[in-house]
Amino acid sequence: MTATRLTDTYRHQGLRRKLTELLRQKGIMDESVLNAIFTVPRHYFFDSSFLEFAYEDKAFPIGSGQTISQPYTVAFQSELLKVSPHMRVLEIGTGSGYQACILAEMGAKVYTIERQKLLFDKTKDLLPKMNFRIRPFYGDGYKGLPAHAPFDRILITAAAPNIPNELLSQLKVGGVMVVPVGEDVQTMYRLERSSETEFISEKHGMFRFVPMLSDKAKDI
Ligand code: SAH
Repeated sequence: MTATRLTDTYRHQGLRRKLTELLRQKGIMDESVLNAIFTVPRHYFFDSSFLEFAYEDKAFPIGSGQTISQPYTVAFQSELLKVSPHMRVLEIGTGSGYQACILAEMGAKVYTIERQKLLFDKTKDLLPKMNFRIRPFYGDGYKGLPAHAPFDRILITAAAPNIPNELLSQLKVGGVMVVPVGEDVQTMYRLERSSETEFISEKHGMFRFVPMLSDKAKDI
């Protein structure tokens, strides 16, 4: 990791301000989300030769066949989640760690699971440098983290073939899960647990994510 990569300049801040305004124009309204996008240096999550792509509103490859989600998608999911300070949030699909940092910048205590060992190792080394309350776990997100449940919020950042029941059971009553469901394209679901046995379900448009894989965590 080069010093250049973890340096945040006025130029980077200017690009982030533009990106934040673009997301506002695209309909993101939650000021805590917009503030997090403006504050967290997205270029820290890129290899240094790709820095110029960091503030475009696009997904980008991060190795191991995975992508860092498009900023609009990160903002959209974060807004649907409605995060308040000190909430315990479980993220499935750590990837680059960017989304986890956005949630942490919004004040959440973040638990995040990644099933690809190479990505997990890379991101686990980066996260402590960001000074956020984030605990990374290597494993299968379908199982969640029963030892740390229940959670106020659960965010799935890979395409789930259906709504994962094991994860719903790890949500507090009053808690919210946001999950893209489907194969080639996904419907964004927001599920609020209204009682032990009931969930209020809403659909929020179509998105495209890399698939959430169900076999056990493996090295690639
Ligand atoms: N949130 C990430 C982007 C996610 S891309 C970011 O901000 O960069 C989706 C990620 O989900 C990939 O890293 C992929 O390896 C991971 N993934 C896929 N299936 C998974 C599973 N069953 N458990 C945990 N992570 C999984």
